[in-house]
Amino acid sequence: MKVVLEHLTKIFPSRSKKDKGAEVVAVNDFNLEIPDGKLIGLLGPSGCGKSTTLFMISGLQAPTGGRIYFGDDDVTSLAPENRGIGLVFQNYALYPHLTVQQNILFPLQNLKGENRLSKEEMLTRANEVAKLVQIDEFMNRKPSELSGGQQQRVAIARALVKMPRVLLLDEPLSNLDARLRLQTREEIRRIQRDTQITTIFVTHDQEEAMSISDYIVVMKLGVIMQTGKPQWVYDDPANLFVAKFLGTPPINVFEGRVEGGRLFIGEECVFEAEGVEDQQVYVGIRPEGFILEDSGKLTCKVSGIDVMGRDVSIVSTNQGSLNPVVRSIISSDDLGKINGDTVRFNLKEHKLFVFNKDTEERVYIGGQKAVHDEAVAKMKAEGQIFASHDGPLPKEADDAARAENAAANEKKGFFSRRKKRASEGQNGGSADSEA
Ligand code: ADP
Ligand code: MG
Repeated sequence: MKVVLEHLTKIFPSRSKKDKGAEVVAVNDFNLEIPDGKLIGLLGPSGCGKSTTLFMISGLQAPTGGRIYFGDDDVTSLAPENRGIGLVFQNYALYPHLTVQQNILFPLQNLKGENRLSKEEMLTRANEVAKLVQIDEFMNRKPSELSGGQQQRVAIARALVKMPRVLLLDEPLSNLDARLRLQTREEIRRIQRDTQITTIFVTHDQEEAMSISDYIVVMKLGVIMQTGKPQWVYDDPANLFVAKFLGTPPINVFEGRVEGGRLFIGEECVFEAEGVEDQQVYVGIRPEGFILEDSGKLTCKVSGIDVMGRDVSIVSTNQGSLNPVVRSIISSDDLGKINGDTVRFNLKEHKLFVFNKDTEERVYIGGQKAVHDEAVAKMKAEGQIFASHDGPLPKEADDAARAENAAANEKKGFFSRRKKRASEGQNGGSADSEA
C-alpha cells in the first residue's frame, strides 16, 4: 500500500514554562510518498517529531494540517481501527496474564461484521504469524517467560495478525540489549520482505536505520532534512546536520574558508575549490577520507593510535577541528608512515563535504557536483525516492527551545504516562485497542 503524506503538520501548545502560550511545531509541512512494499526508516534525534508523524499516520493523533493517503484513499479523518494498520512500540505492551497465543489472537476477537472470523480461522492465522516471527514453539508461555526479543516478536505478530496494509514501528528495538537488537532487526527486515507490507520504522539510531531501510528519511525539528537510499544520503549529504547525524565514528568537522578558489583549514590549503565563491565554511571529513602521506596538506598532532585489525584509527588534534579529536581510519599497512607525533593527510574528494557556515547547506567542490548530478539523474530514471530540504534549514538555536519543551513534557509525566498506559495494554498505546 502506497502511503502519501501531503503538507502534514502538527502543532502542540508548548509545555515549557518559559514560553507560555507558545507553540511547538512538532511536524512541519512533511511531504513524502512511500512506495508500496518498502521499508522506510524515519530517523532523527529525540524530539524531532518521529512519533508524532507515526501517530498521525496511525490515526491516534489528528493533524493540525495536511492530508494522509493510503493508496488513493484519503484516510486523514478515518478512525485508527478503520485504517488497517499494525502498530508496534518500544515497550512490547503485551497482556501479562495472557499466553502468547491469546495475545496474538486478541486483535482478531473484536472483529465485527463481515470481518468476523471463526475460531478455526483465528487459530490458523495466529499460527501463521507466529511461524513467520518464529515464536510458534512458545505459544503457551506467558510474556514473562520470554526474553525481550521474543516478547517484541510477539508484539510484531500481534500487529501482523490482522493483515495490516501498513506496519508502523516506533523504536521497536530500543529496549533490547545490543545482541538481540541486531538479531531482531534482521528478523524485522526478513518479515517485511516476506510479507511485503509497507513499513515505517522509527528510530533515533542511524546505524539501525541505515542497515534496515530501503529509504531513510532524516528529520530535524519536525522538518525532513534529506530522503533517499541510505548509501546515497551517507555519500552525498545535503547539509551539515545530515552529514553529522550519519556515520560511526562520526564525521570530523572543521572550521574553514574558501578563498581565491581554494579550501583552507586554518592556514593550510587542503583542497582546490575552483569556481567556488569566497565564504566561511564547515569542512566535514569522514574518518575514511584521510590519506596518510608525507606530502599531506592537513597537519595534525597524533594523540593515540587504535589498532582495529586490518584498519588503524589515528586519533589526533587540529586547531580547526570542532570535535575534540580528529578520527581517521587508515590501513594498518600505512602504520609505518607515521614517524614522530605529527601526521599529514591528503583528503579523498568523495569523503570531503563543505557547507556554508551561515546556511549549513552543502557547497560542492571539484568534481562533486558532476557526481551528484549523475546520481540524481540515475535515481530519477529508476523512480527512486530522494529529496533534500528546500528552503532555510532549521537552526541549532531552535534545538534548545525544543529540548526544553521535551524536558517539560518529561516532567509533566506526559511520556511516562503514555508509556505506562501502553505497557498495561490499555487505551493510548497498545496495538490492539486502536488498530
Ligand atoms: P520523537 O518521537 O522524534 O522523539 P515526538 O514526536 O515525540 O518526537 O515529539 C516532537 C515534539 O513535540 C517534541 O518537542 C515533543 O516535546 C512535542 N510533543 C509531543 N507530543 C506532545 C504533546 N502531546 N503536547 C505537547 N508537546 C508534545
Ligand atoms: Mg518518539
